Amino acid sequence: MKLTVVGLGPGAGEDMTGRAYRAIEEADVVIGYTAYIDLIRGAFPEKEMRSTGMKKEVDRCRMAVQAASEGKNVAVVCSGDSGVYGMAGLIYEVSKEFPPVEIEVVPGITAACGGAAVLGAPLTHDFAVISLSDLMTPWEKIEKRLECAAEADFVICLYNPRSRGRADYLMRACDILLRHKSGDTVCAYVKNIGRDGEQSRILPLSELRDSTDVDMFTTVFVGNSQTTVIDGKMVTPRGYMQRGE
Ligand code: SAH
Repeated sequence: MKLTVVGLGPGAGEDMTGRAYRAIEEADVVIGYTAYIDLIRGAFPEKEMRSTGMKKEVDRCRMAVQAASEGKNVAVVCSGDSGVYGMAGLIYEVSKEFPPVEIEVVPGITAACGGAAVLGAPLTHDFAVISLSDLMTPWEKIEKRLECAAEADFVICLYNPRSRGRADYLMRACDILLRHKSGDTVCAYVKNIGRDGEQSRILPLSELRDSTDVDMFTTVFVGNSQTTVIDGKMVTPRGYMQRGE
């Protein structure tokens, strides 16, 4: 009947919007990756939930569209925002294989915004979001995007900064950024945003390069040339003070 693609925010719970909460409440069945279903199961104990493992994205979306086309009210849940490296696009692609269903996307707080709030205000100016995962994007393209964003002095958020089998990607990315950004550039990472074990650290780009603490549950922030630290917080000025007010 209806398929709602719901962003849960970085940690679900209090990070969820009212719309996200209502979409799950109104669904006959909730479908998602096991780790995200686990985040919300406690809040909706009576709800039918179907979880699938990682790398089962296409199966999961087909299951969801099929259930909706059979008359169910379905919610597909993703962490953060469902349109930022989430399932929203794939749901539309897969829906072409089925009779028409109504699809609604409910936005969520993406990790970049959740993490930025933990750090202070690092994204107050133009920023670029780049995933270091080369599962579906050729590494050369990722390198090009890193290079161009660094050259243009964007603040850069890195998603999927490291995982087993890709241990040196953050180092390789930092080496590209260092072609255009100073080693003193203010950087940071936030782990487990909005979840148990949330942890953050501010450090210069030269140290980020060799950081072994960054894992796949971490979002990395690389400042622009104006980014600074104020009272332990990472801040990118918008320019109001420089305007002489
Ligand atoms: N749709 C998600 C992103 C999925 S890609 C969103 O909008 O946030 C997965 C990557 O997102 C992770 O490797 C990590 O870099 C980042 N991420 C997602 N949730 C996070 C969290 N709670 N804490 C830290 N990083 C997170």
